[in-house]
Amino acid sequence: IYAAQNITERRKAEKRIRYLARIDALTKVPNRMQFQHLLQRAIARAKRRERSVALFYIDIDNFKEINDTFGHLAGDATLETVTERLKGTLPDESVIGRLAGDEFAVIVDNGAANPDNRSALDKVSREVLDRLAEPFFVQGHEVFMTASMGIAFYPVDAPNVIDLIKNADAALYHAKKSGGNMHSHYMPEMNEAVVERLMTKSKLKRAFERDELLVHYQPKYNLQTGTVIGAEALVRWELPERGIILPSDFIPLAEETNLIIDIGEWVLDRVCEDFRRWQQTVSSPGRVSVNLSLKQLRQPNFINRISAILKNYDVSPTSLELEITETTLMENPDRTIKILDQLYALGLHLAIDDFGTGYSSLSALQQFPINTLKIDKSFVQDIAVNADDATIVGTIIHMGQSLNMDVVAEGVESEEQLAFLQSHDCTYVQGLLFGDPMSSNSYLELLMAQTDGTDQYRTLFA
Ligand code: C2E
Ligand code: MG
Ligand code: MG
Repeated sequence: IYAAQNITERRKAEKRIRYLARIDALTKVPNRMQFQHLLQRAIARAKRRERSVALFYIDIDNFKEINDTFGHLAGDATLETVTERLKGTLPDESVIGRLAGDEFAVIVDNGAANPDNRSALDKVSREVLDRLAEPFFVQGHEVFMTASMGIAFYPVDAPNVIDLIKNADAALYHAKKSGGNMHSHYMPEMNEAVVERLMTKSKLKRAFERDELLVHYQPKYNLQTGTVIGAEALVRWELPERGIILPSDFIPLAEETNLIIDIGEWVLDRVCEDFRRWQQTVSSPGRVSVNLSLKQLRQPNFINRISAILKNYDVSPTSLELEITETTLMENPDRTIKILDQLYALGLHLAIDDFGTGYSSLSALQQFPINTLKIDKSFVQDIAVNADDATIVGTIIHMGQSLNMDVVAEGVESEEQLAFLQSHDCTYVQGLLFGDPMSSNSYLELLMAQTDGTDQYRTLFA
């Protein structure tokens, strides 16, 4: 009896776990994973019957405002209201899912899902949007919200789950851009490169507001001893449907708007918060470097803002290094030098990033208060096989040292490169040879392993 009871308990637990993995905890509708699975099944069914499936992609127009004005509880209540209203307005057999934050999707695969006669579906979507636009009360406050919707059909608009969601999303973006509180049908020209860029831009803004950005850390090692002497903070964007997007794919977009200023400040804040936390466990987490963009540096009150962040987390300015690319540095040297002098006076370290990719001369560099020179990874890549690159890197190391700078080689991937850099007395290295950039927790574990003498990469330096 006991064994049987145990099995029932286990089955119950398993069932519960499976439920939790598929259902959004707040709204109790399928989450993104489960929704995609159900959409896959609907598509397979439609394919057998030679029918169509319509996908609605719905996003609340002013969700952030509701959240900011009335708080997160009101935000949660709003999402529950949206779910109830969707259930109340849509045909019974439609499947509703919550894809992310305030994004919902609906599968319609009854007779209304007909791309050749869209009037029935237009009527449904108008009813849904009208119902969503009715005011409601949260904790005594009257809340007004509207939503937008994008519609795409299998198979005419897309042959599979991923593209169908993507195209419905493109149509949603179009509806939002046209003022919101409306629906749009997908059209191929919505996916042109320009639109995709704009869409990514608006997604990035939303992602930032929703806290979907992450900071990873790439450790820097002392080349003679193999000890971790700090790390570089690298921002990442985690998109639910695409995984981690690297900064090279979104920093340039952010640079086109002032969003880069907000992102940069957020990264600084996050780094100081992490640093504070590491310090509670290890006495010295090393020096952390943060990449700065030109726009950030040009903010009139940049010095005050960075001081405020450091003070807020009680982190010493000497614990941070700011990385500025060679090209940024040379953009307007006279103006830049004044700011850099002030940062330096605060105690912050300064590094030239991606050195070798710009055109700065030795004498031009001397005027800046720079502590560190980072050799661009494109030179490091071939030092073991290309004599010219070997000479260039050797010269840069030598030059940096004669200017009293620490020299960091970026992008070290092989032991041959490591050996070359060691023999040329480079100061620090970072690169994939020592693993991928890591989470804040993993970096702390690395520091702790080093204290215990159990760190795994030290032997590479012997
Ligand atoms: P960066 O500052 O030169 O950063 C080093 C880049 O090289 C990182 O790319 C890193 O992941 C990559 N890397 C490191 N080791 C290796 C290696 O062994 N081999 C190769 N092939 N690559 C390696 P990531 O993370 O994609 O960042 C790209 C650039 O984006 C950074 O170049 C930096 O300029 C910019 N960036 C990153 N985070 C921020 C940020 O918070 N603010 C700003 N303004 N820019 C950032
Ligand atoms: Mg950098
Ligand atoms: Mg670099």
